[in-house]
Parts: sequence; structure tokens; C-alpha cells
Amino acid sequence: MVFLRALLAVVLAVSAILNNATDSSLYISLDAFCNAQGFKVSYDALTDRYILKKGAEVIVLSPGMSKARIGTETIELGGLVFIDGGRVLVPRTLSDHLREVRSRRPAPVKIPKSEFTIVLDPGHGPRWYGGISQNGLTENAVVLPIARTVQEFLQEKGYKVVLTRTTNAHLSTESRTDDLDARVNATYEKKGDLFVSIHANSTSPPNPAAVGIETFYYPASGYDSMSLERRAAAIAGRNLDVGHYSGGEFSGGARAKRVLCRTILEANASRSRNLAKMLQEEMVNATGNVDRGIKNTRDLRVLRMQLCPAALVEIGFLTNPKTERWLRTPSYREKIAAAIAKGIDSFVRTSG
Ligand SMILES: [Zn+2]
Repeated sequence: MVFLRALLAVVLAVSAILNNATDSSLYISLDAFCNAQGFKVSYDALTDRYILKKGAEVIVLSPGMSKARIGTETIELGGLVFIDGGRVLVPRTLSDHLREVRSRRPAPVKIPKSEFTIVLDPGHGPRWYGGISQNGLTENAVVLPIARTVQEFLQEKGYKVVLTRTTNAHLSTESRTDDLDARVNATYEKKGDLFVSIHANSTSPPNPAAVGIETFYYPASGYDSMSLERRAAAIAGRNLDVGHYSGGEFSGGARAKRVLCRTILEANASRSRNLAKMLQEEMVNATGNVDRGIKNTRDLRVLRMQLCPAALVEIGFLTNPKTERWLRTPSYREKIAAAIAKGIDSFVRTSG
């Protein structure tokens, strides 16, 4: 029965191809599509997929399939991608879907770089120093010079960049939580348009085998409306210029402010994911360190209350002896700093 159903599917697919193949109003060659839309195409033999790239935009097509991926969305093309006489043909509906997916994306930031404020947060401080290597190298000490170098690289590109701490001191010594909240408040006060917290990983007890780079972001919150509502309420309760984040003057009352915060939080969820993705890609490419991927979490306090796109990078494990040696080297630190700066710049230029 399963076999018959599969056979029927193949017959239907083939007949769809035969019906459509000659109809150029329904199909366009992949080359023509790429030329018209400005995509570069490559073929991945391992997975038998065509990968189309234009800046940060990616489309993935598989011969014999009617589903395509545009960015993170899977769409139904309504016809198969197939090969005919050496030419790859794709349903013309791909252009419509591309337009639709683009229209759902938030508009790129239009403000000039010199007015775009990036807040870099070198994690921890001397008291709550974070991770530590077996040779006593602490996380707070590693991330500060790296954050400074990221700042230099971004300033060279014309951005306004501020650090939450410029010395090896906490923002607040009251409690760890206060110290973390002060970093979020610093982003509000500086009217940050983007926030990146820089950390180095560790395991306790030390596990030398744990290795790699990972990046965190706060997940899409649509399905967790209670948490979103609480976050919006807490943010609205702060002395915060919400108008800055919504791109205009804001003179509404507390409830209106809360609604606006909520809207901004919703919109930022996917942008933060994009930011995390770009940072992760650049860091892994630049260093060749193991790719542990991007991860979403609701547990990181510095990300939870941000109103701008925000991510937290873990640049490597202090408890991994090889990585520790790397992290002590100025050239490696510079490499990772350049990658973080590049990731931020790509994000701002492509998706803001
Ligand atoms: Zn940390």
C-alpha cells in the first residue's frame, strides 16, 4: 500500500512535469531567475540542493521537490523543481514567494551609521568573574580587551560604539543580578540600537573535552504571551525613552507604553536570531573553532529585557587547554574581535 502510494506520487509528479515543462509561463530557468534577481547559485552535490545567495538572503531548492526554503521559511512552490536537458527549471511562483517573505521582514534600519549605537558588554567583573581556566585565566579578564578591539573595528567602520564597562570593574557590586540589570539599563541609557554581550565558556568541574563557539539569543515570544507581557510591563515601568525604539516621539501613558514595548519585543525576536546567526558564522569561519551553533534561551538576564536586537557570544571554552592557549594570544583575540565586528556590520547592513 505504501509502495502504491509512493508510485502514485511519482506518477503524479512526472505528469506534473510533463504538463508544465513546455509551459514557460509556469516555469523559468534557474539561471534566468538568478540573473533577474541578482542571486549567485551553487550546487551542493552532497545534499543535491541548489543554494542561491544574495547578501544575507538564502534560497534552497531541491530537484524533484516542490518545497523551497527562503531564509528560515519553508514554502510550497505549487510545482516541482526539475532538470530538463541540463537546465534547472523552477516554478515562476518562486518570485512571488520571495516578494512575500521579504515583505514580512522588518524594514532595514535607515539611520546613518554614525547615529547607530552599538552597545558591547564585556561579561562579568572581578567578583563574579565567570569561568576560569585550570591555569587561572578568568573570563572577565579575557573578554574586556576583546570588546575594546571590537569597538575599535566598528568605530573604524563609522559606528557609534559604547562599552558597558571599560575597566575590570563591575557595574554594580550589590549583587550579581544588579550587575546584570545595570548592563541592560546601560543599553537603555545609551539608547542602544544593538546589544552584544561577550563571554567565554567553561565547564564546572572542568571538562577539557568541551570545545567550540556558541551564540545565544532570546527566542520568539509569540507563544509565551505571559512572559512577554511581564517583560513589557517591567520595561514600561522603567524610565525609558520608548520613542527612540519605535522611531518617533512617544507621549502615551503607561498602558500605551506597555503595548509599544510588547510590539518592539515581538519584532526583535527574529532580528536577534539573525544577529546571533551572523555573529556565529563569522566567528566560526575566522577561527576554525568547533561550531556549537546558535541557541535560544530565556535564562540569560542581559538578553531578556533588551528592546533592541541582542545576542550573547561565547567565544570559546577556557576549560579546553587548546582554546585557553588561543585565548591568551593577541592574534587570536584580534581574529575573534574582527569576526564579531564583521557579524555586527553585516547584520546592520542587511537586516538592521
Ligand atoms: Zn560568562
